[in-house]
Amino acid sequence: MERIYNKIHRIFVVKNDESEECRCVMEGVNTINFKAMGGVNESLVFNTIRRRGPISRVDIAKLSGLTAPTVTNISGKLIEFGLIHEYMVGEYSGGRRPVLLKANSEIANMIIVDIRSKEMIGYLINGALEIKEQTCHDIRHLDKDEILLLLENIIAKCHSSENGQLALAIGIIVRGPVLSREGLSLFSPSTGWRNVPLKYILEERFQLPVFVENDMRAMALGAYHYGPYRDIKNAVFLGVGGGIGSGIILNGELYRGLGDSAGEIGHTVVDAQGPLCSCGNHGCLEAMASESALVNLVVKSILEGESSLVAEVVKGDTNAIRPEHIYSAAEVGDPLALKILDHIAHYLGMGAANIINIFNPQLVLIGGGIVKGRNFIEETMVKVIKERALGSSYSSTRIEFSIEGRTAALKGIVDLVMEGIFLR
Ligand SMILES: [Zn+2]
Repeated sequence: MERIYNKIHRIFVVKNDESEECRCVMEGVNTINFKAMGGVNESLVFNTIRRRGPISRVDIAKLSGLTAPTVTNISGKLIEFGLIHEYMVGEYSGGRRPVLLKANSEIANMIIVDIRSKEMIGYLINGALEIKEQTCHDIRHLDKDEILLLLENIIAKCHSSENGQLALAIGIIVRGPVLSREGLSLFSPSTGWRNVPLKYILEERFQLPVFVENDMRAMALGAYHYGPYRDIKNAVFLGVGGGIGSGIILNGELYRGLGDSAGEIGHTVVDAQGPLCSCGNHGCLEAMASESALVNLVVKSILEGESSLVAEVVKGDTNAIRPEHIYSAAEVGDPLALKILDHIAHYLGMGAANIINIFNPQLVLIGGGIVKGRNFIEETMVKVIKERALGSSYSSTRIEFSIEGRTAALKGIVDLVMEGIFLR
C-alpha cells in the first residue's frame, strides 16, 4: 500500500516544479492523467476495470470497443503502474483458470462526508468502496455555521487517523442544487446554506482536492455505474424525499446542463394554483409530492379534524409527524394515510410522465424515502403515467424503485472523486 501511495505521490511531485509539497498534491490532481501513459484509452480501460472488475480482458475489449491487443497492452501498463492487479478466480473445470483484472483497492483512500437532512456521516473509504472508518453526527439542532464547523471537524478527525493521512481527496454529498465544478452549495435546505463555497473552504484548510455533488446526482451515478442498471445508457433517477430532485444519465454520461443546474425536476410546476414551494414559486412538484408535502397534507387534514392513526401515534403533536408514521399507518389501512399517499402518487405520476415525454429514457428509477411507501403509490403512479405520457415514449420505459437507498450516493461520489483524481 505504501509503495503504491508513494508512486502516486511521486507522480504528483514529478509533475510539478513547485517546492511546496502540498501544492504539488493539489495541482497534481490535474496532472495525474493518463496522457503520461498514453491517452484516453488508458482511462477508458482503467474506468472499466474499477467499475466492473474483476473483469476479463475479453470483456473489457467488448465494453470499451478497443481491440484485444490494445487492452492487453494497456492493462500491462496499468499493472506496472500499480493501479490494477490480476485476480485469479477459483478452479475452473476443463481449461485454464480465467485471469481477471481488478483495481487496486489501496490506490486511493478518500474522505467522504454525506450531509443528509438529519445527520452528517463521515467515511474513510477507498476506491474499491471498502469503508475503513465511519462516524455519524446528528445535525438537527445545529445552525448553518455549526454545521460547517462540524463538517470541518469530521474531515480533520478522519484526516488525522493513520489511514486518513493517506487520503488523496475529499468528497462531499449535499442536498439541494450545487455547482459541482466550483464546489458551491447554492442552496441546501437541510443545512440552511446559501452560496457556500465548500470546495474553496475545504481545499484551503486541508490542502486536498475537494469534489462536491448533489445527493440526487450522486445517487444516479452510483446506481448507473455500480448497480444492475449499468447497461442502460439513458435513465433518469427521480429522488423523492424531503425534496424532489433527479440525476439524468444521457448516453452513459451524467447530464449537468449548461449552468450545472439540470435535473431540478422538483421545481417544475404541476399545479399553478398549488402551495408555495421553497424556491418561491407555487405548485412545484416538490411542493405537491415530496415527503415534506406528504407530511404537510396529513398535518393539515388532522388539524382540520380528520381522524387518523397518525395523530394517535404522535399523541396529537402534529409537529412530531414523520413520513414513517404515515407509511406505518397505511400498512394497517388508515384511511387518511392511504388517501394522502394516493394524492401524492397522482402528482408523482405526472412528474414521471413529464420526464418520460422529455427524455424518452429506458428507465425511470425512483429512489429516496418515498420508496418505503411504494406499496401505496405505485399503482396510481403507473396509472397516471400511462394516461399522461405519450405511448411512443412510455412503451420503451421501465419504471422501477431503487432498493439501494443512500448507498448509491456513496458509490456515486466515490466514482466522481476517482474520476476527478485519476482522469482528464
Ligand atoms: Zn419549487
